[in-house]
Amino acid sequence: MSTIATEPIGSIPRPAYLQQAMQAFGKGDIQADEMSRLFERATKETIEALEASGSPVISDGEQSKPSFATYPVHGLTNLSGDGVIIPFADGHTRQLPKLTSGPFRYQNFANEYLKTAKKFTKLPIKQAVISAFAISLLYPQEGIEGYPHEQFIADLINEAEADIRRCLDGGAYNVQIDFTEARLALKLDPSKGLLSSFIDLNNQVLARFTAEQRSRIGVHTCPGGDHDSTHSADVPYSELLPLFFKLNAGNFYLEYAAEKDKKSVLQSIREHINPNQRVFLGVTDVLTSRIETPQEISDLLVEASEYIPVAQLGSTDDCGFSPFADDVSTAREIAFAKVKARVDGTRQAGQRI
Ligand SMILES: [Zn+2]
Repeated sequence: MSTIATEPIGSIPRPAYLQQAMQAFGKGDIQADEMSRLFERATKETIEALEASGSPVISDGEQSKPSFATYPVHGLTNLSGDGVIIPFADGHTRQLPKLTSGPFRYQNFANEYLKTAKKFTKLPIKQAVISAFAISLLYPQEGIEGYPHEQFIADLINEAEADIRRCLDGGAYNVQIDFTEARLALKLDPSKGLLSSFIDLNNQVLARFTAEQRSRIGVHTCPGGDHDSTHSADVPYSELLPLFFKLNAGNFYLEYAAEKDKKSVLQSIREHINPNQRVFLGVTDVLTSRIETPQEISDLLVEASEYIPVAQLGSTDDCGFSPFADDVSTAREIAFAKVKARVDGTRQAGQRI
């Protein structure tokens, strides 16, 4: 019998009252103190439901993050709306903002979410942060006069480091860097040059931490999961994983349940994972409303344990259930039911291995 680690990715769909309040706040119809009261209420309710699922590690459900990617720049005044566009398979797009002047500084750091979450639980809390690379996309291709790209990158590395360090210092059990664009990078540039530059930039941030700290830092990748649609599921994992494990982090949170050819994913992980790294496989598909059974989750993990040593194996969800605040494609109850299935199925697998 073994204990297999299990952790969430992060986001849980926001309740309807919070969605409505965020829209009203955007229009100036409610005040900031009322908005923050509702953020706290939703965070508390989400944490209570996650505790009830039996999860040994929880998150705040990202109830007060505007999105997994844009929280650090939310409220900055040196941005315009016409940045990089990310196309999804179902035809919808998400557009990032664009930086209009330097110097670049984060407006918000993720440890503020952690502080709120800690008020409501004694369980270990995982805190997600956005990758430096995703934020690097905010710098315009045409450049900014008087603020060269090299200076922007130097500033960005400092800010991304501070974002992680504040969470570790603030008592996060661990920190997860959301690196959803890794697979997208291979789609945009099959020569792998773009992905290599992503990994290099993120490694520059990771190099600022000690080995002990890096064992508490992880990286999540997936083909995107917005409005139940993906941006890069057609890129095979075999192209991504060899480079991905070159990231100098301790934990890897991989979308897996929705993968068709699972054996080749397991083979690739076995080939490329380093002894000081642990992989958390996604065992709940966040793009479907069907709730997995603990039995099928347990079967997935038992099969995975034939390829990956149990000490290096964990389970997670394929992605956040609602990375953008306005995504209501998955019901809250379904997200919590899937989390409970993951926790129960992972415990069962531990009893079988
Ligand atoms: Zn994801």
